Amino acid sequence: MPDHNFRDRLEALDRCSYKAYKSLRGQHPFASFTLHVDSVQGDPFAAPSRLRVVVPQAIAGFPRRLCDTASRRIALEDYLLRQFHQQAQGYSRHRGSGKSGLIAIAAPSQAMLSRTAVTVSATSVEVRFAVGLPAHGRRIAGRQAAELLCDDLPKLIEQALRYSQLDATAIQAQGDTAETADWLRDQLRDRQLVAFVADGAILPRRSGVDERSLGPAAVPFRSPASLRVSLTRPNGETITGMGIPTGITLIVGGGYHGKSTLLKAIEQGVYNHVPGDGREQVVTTATAVKVRAEEGRSVTGVDVSPFINHLPQGRSTEQFSTADASGSTSQAASIIEAVAAGATALLLDEDTSATNFMIRDRRMQALIAKAQEPITPLVDKVRQLYTDHGVSTILVMGGSGDYFDVADTVIALNEYQAADVTAQARQIAADDRTERQAEGGQQFGSLSPRVVLPDSIDPQRGHRAVSLKVRATDEIRLGLTEIDLSAVEQLVEPGQVKAIAAALVYAQRHYLDGERSLAAVLQAVAVDIAAHGLDCLNDQLNGEFAAFRMQELAAAINRLRTLKTTAPTAASLPQD
Ligand code: ADP
Ligand code: MG
Repeated sequence: MPDHNFRDRLEALDRCSYKAYKSLRGQHPFASFTLHVDSVQGDPFAAPSRLRVVVPQAIAGFPRRLCDTASRRIALEDYLLRQFHQQAQGYSRHRGSGKSGLIAIAAPSQAMLSRTAVTVSATSVEVRFAVGLPAHGRRIAGRQAAELLCDDLPKLIEQALRYSQLDATAIQAQGDTAETADWLRDQLRDRQLVAFVADGAILPRRSGVDERSLGPAAVPFRSPASLRVSLTRPNGETITGMGIPTGITLIVGGGYHGKSTLLKAIEQGVYNHVPGDGREQVVTTATAVKVRAEEGRSVTGVDVSPFINHLPQGRSTEQFSTADASGSTSQAASIIEAVAAGATALLLDEDTSATNFMIRDRRMQALIAKAQEPITPLVDKVRQLYTDHGVSTILVMGGSGDYFDVADTVIALNEYQAADVTAQARQIAADDRTERQAEGGQQFGSLSPRVVLPDSIDPQRGHRAVSLKVRATDEIRLGLTEIDLSAVEQLVEPGQVKAIAAALVYAQRHYLDGERSLAAVLQAVAVDIAAHGLDCLNDQLNGEFAAFRMQELAAAINRLRTLKTTAPTAASLPQD
């Protein structure tokens, strides 16, 4: 029996120096799977060893129909990850010094994402995880290693990755949920909607640090009749809810009445959510981007001239750079960057916006002449953004009625209940003119492409050619520089940030040629990932990557403090 062999080998390593574990690198056949030891840690305190198990479908036994569409396959992989994650906690325990005895896999959020930790194909199920190979000090604990890898691991695999051991109904339900959400999101375009919020959805979360559903204490969502949309699936099932049309939508209402909660659910609607989350049928255009003020961020070579002109000291606003943006300039730059990265909808909340970027009322116009105010507020640009560039905006704005003039749809929240108050808002706008001067001209203005220069991205640190570190969903350390992602609010898992870090290096190696525009680079990376999976980003069979959007990769590049850009040469511009 190969199992026996492996057990003997582990026991024979007992009391050897930790380095001897390196001899385990490679494949080990077990009765019902193959174990791959891909990397071995240097000592029991170092980052744990990376292992991979491949179970043939003949043994795992997942019926084809559970993974015959991308939606279902991702849902199944997500389900298996959750099983493995939960069950592994029962086997992970101290078996010596440091991380000895640890069994860990990347923890999932509420979103169902494609991840490298679990892959299901027609022929096999593969799971990647981390193990702390046991030792006492620097001496291998061979018996503990054998117990972990030869007794516990097979049990864990049996419990988490065998169809016959799992809840078939729950797996089916998770697949249905993903398929329905993807179908709903597909309906948005034809119906000219930016987002859909199903009746009965639970939007509030348990707390600011707990993304799970608030549960029975929540008031379920109910659509106002005039915005109600009924969507009937091919199987006859009808789903009703609020459709938010393209164009400009305001979410208004008293403080603490649920405005930001609705917007947050819409922000997260770019992802599918697990059954029980409450937001399973809240879906948003896949390219929607939340934009907020981010004082202090760096901005490089962005044409912010649609929003900002005549800066003090004659600074350029067509290729605007700063190491320390103000609230308003950061928000202007983030909008231009998001649109350049393919956003067709922008999501903004007054809670996290710069007031002077959002509004400039008549009295202020009277006091501070336009010639002394570089900023054209969004209220004068938001409509042009839609008419000139097809970019919709959903805006939480409880504090100013100036937006009534430019809004297509106004949704009021009262006691967490949504009402369509578009007609009243129009009437008020007609009866009570703001008497403000429109600013910033008739057109939104040009969107100039940028080329990212290859030496913007340097992952080297000391003697290491590539040094990447990630802190939660907030920060990437790339070589000697830090990228602050704390204001990039649609990142939900550290695995997304790890994959983005790898994608920065990948983009630099393959596509930053001093010619291609940033948009073209993002496109090329997206095509490669779609064709070859997240594993194409490096050659390490990383088990911690999660799917991310090109909008967030762009956000990371745009926040690099070492970023260098130029305008494209005429030859490198698209020919159409
Ligand atoms: P606003 O942005 O209007 O000031 P928030 O969206 O921040 O309000 O919501 C205020 C509080 O109400 C939050 O604690 C939120 O969790 C809670 N809340 C929001 N929507 C609901 C709901 N449908 N049912 C119960 N509580 C809710
Ligand atoms: Mg709010």
